[in-house]
Amino acid sequence: MRVHELAKQLGISSKECIARLHDLGVEVKNHMSSVEPDAAELLQEAETGAQATPPPAVEMEAPPPSPAPEPPPREARPAAAAAAPKPASAPHAGGEVTVEGKTLRVRGAVVVKDLAGALGIRPNQLITDLMGMNVLASISQRVEVNVARKIAEKHGFQLEHEKRAAEYKPVSRKDLFEEEEEEDRPEDLLPRAPVVTFLGHVDHGKTSLLDRIRNTAVVDGEYGGITQHIGAYTVEVGGRPITFLDTPGHAAFTAMRARGANLTDIAVLVIAADDGIMPQTREAIMHAKAAEVALVVAINKIDLPGANPDRVKQQLQAEDLAPEDWGGDTICCLVSAHTGVGIDHLMEMILLQSEILELSANPARRAGGFVIEAQLEPGMGPTANLLVTRGTLRIGDAVICGQFWGKVRALINDHGSKVKTAGPSMPVKCLGLSGVPEAGAQFRVVSSEKTARSAAQAHSASLKDEQSATARKASLESLLQQMEDTQKIELRVILKADTQGSIEAIAHSLRQIDSAKVSLKFILSSTGNVTVNDVMLASASDAVIVGFHAAKEPGVDSACRREGVEVRLHNIIYELLDEVREAMTGLLSPELREKVVAHAEVKQVFSIGKTAKVAGCIVTSGTATPKLRARVKRNDETLYEGSIATIKHFQDAVSEIREGQECGIRLDNFSNFEPGDVLEFYELEEIQQTL
Ligand code: GDP
Repeated sequence: MRVHELAKQLGISSKECIARLHDLGVEVKNHMSSVEPDAAELLQEAETGAQATPPPAVEMEAPPPSPAPEPPPREARPAAAAAAPKPASAPHAGGEVTVEGKTLRVRGAVVVKDLAGALGIRPNQLITDLMGMNVLASISQRVEVNVARKIAEKHGFQLEHEKRAAEYKPVSRKDLFEEEEEEDRPEDLLPRAPVVTFLGHVDHGKTSLLDRIRNTAVVDGEYGGITQHIGAYTVEVGGRPITFLDTPGHAAFTAMRARGANLTDIAVLVIAADDGIMPQTREAIMHAKAAEVALVVAINKIDLPGANPDRVKQQLQAEDLAPEDWGGDTICCLVSAHTGVGIDHLMEMILLQSEILELSANPARRAGGFVIEAQLEPGMGPTANLLVTRGTLRIGDAVICGQFWGKVRALINDHGSKVKTAGPSMPVKCLGLSGVPEAGAQFRVVSSEKTARSAAQAHSASLKDEQSATARKASLESLLQQMEDTQKIELRVILKADTQGSIEAIAHSLRQIDSAKVSLKFILSSTGNVTVNDVMLASASDAVIVGFHAAKEPGVDSACRREGVEVRLHNIIYELLDEVREAMTGLLSPELREKVVAHAEVKQVFSIGKTAKVAGCIVTSGTATPKLRARVKRNDETLYEGSIATIKHFQDAVSEIREGQECGIRLDNFSNFEPGDVLEFYELEEIQQTL
């Protein structure tokens, strides 16, 4: 169906239709573009849902119950929109709700009447509760799951939302790639080639080394034919393969990592023997450490007269990278990209390191991996250079790749030859995708093209959600969530300052506020302004950036917005320290502490209606209010914990009742009182923890 036809069907303009499709993550160019049936259906569903006439105005089953409802909603939202986002065409065709102990299971928005039934309260009570939340709903209207959840919690229930099978469900990237994920059995794992990236200061010879290694392999005649640039290449040394990523430098390395593509196993740190460790060398070391990859040092340009490898080794020692031949454990190779000297040794050391890492993968499963780069190529359509990380990719496989999908039409290796398969650690150019994915996107083989397509569509629809989610990824508040499971919370910091002296002073002071509960980890500390690279590193490592007498380079603000990274700049040291301390305190979740404020004793029990019972009590200590939570105790047993429905003094509902006074108390989900029961009234206090 074309866009204009769909628009006509829905009674909206083509322009509007394009915009709405766009909102749903479906890309269409103009009114003549065709829309896939799935996408059309999705929009139809969304549109008819939103435009259906709301059910008749709020129609109360009984006169508004007292106490008087809360003031009218603050936002002038129509009642139906607030109460029922997708009004049911038939009033009762709402979501289902089932009760299991103290758990409510709902599917979709729930009709007031059903929810009340499940909670064991009268619909009127529920309607009053809803009013308290500024939601006006009649007995036959539906309430949103989130609203239902709040209400359920108020009444001491947990609510679990089961998505309807038929309901369109955006799939998160995690779901997409983790479904069907099975742990590999150890016996299926086979050794795989290490994936290597060159890092180092500009002009120290990263590109020259990459070229040298590739050309040597070609000249050696191990392969015939020209090489093809596909973002990475594989060479064999004594029959053992090594894969090199073609884009050297920590900017690319970390940008990929920020996308979730941790491709590199071994980073080769290139240092020119005549120049030694430079600022970017240091940065590269920190980026590699943050990524927790193995490091091999290549001291390059040893052919130059000014080469001084020993000086470089000394500098390495100062960076906590003591060379092996000096008693440390950093492998250092002396090489020259120009003469080729030492290259074989470097390769051997890479293989040695990879043996230590015991790199392995299961080739006998559906393939998965990452996009190294992708483009539109004349005569070929979208092509994606992929690095397979597990399984084996084959011609004819159905793949999902970011928001695109396809059937593998052809595979081309790094020598320009067509191949039928690509196994773990192999780079390959793949033809047949429906579009050009981003570098760093994941790809995965699925059972059929149909699955691939719907998963890819779901993915693009979920991209929006995800983008807003990532916007908070590295904020101080959300670090807490990510670290919930670990005993000790870690605040990761990237520190940029004007001078090395400031860095040392700040690092020293910050270490002193390290505490038993929260630890501080410096991912990177260096002089200079905050760069886009720093932002990518922060994104990849979930760190915050703190600057002292430092400014933001152009592009940093937009990178921060895109990556959801926080930058705090200061010119006064104690302000900076205070803020970090605050951030660290913020990482500690408030402790919930219970405070018992009153007690009452049940003297008599009255029945009202068929099932409800009121406990006639006398308050024995403190002051009870209906907002408190109550616990019913009989001897040492606790029979109920939950919210209070009403407290009445004679016939009147009261907002508090003091020690010595008599009252009638109704609880929300308990009526099995007996004279002699003790009611304990308590509140939950949030106590902010300190370091
Ligand atoms: P990159 O910025 O780290 O990728 O460095 P390049 O590979 O572009 O090299 C920078 C410069 O150093 C170029 O002019 C190279 O020719 C030169 N160069 C690289 N390796 C060597 C080497 O082993 N010996 C000498 N003498 N020059 C080298």
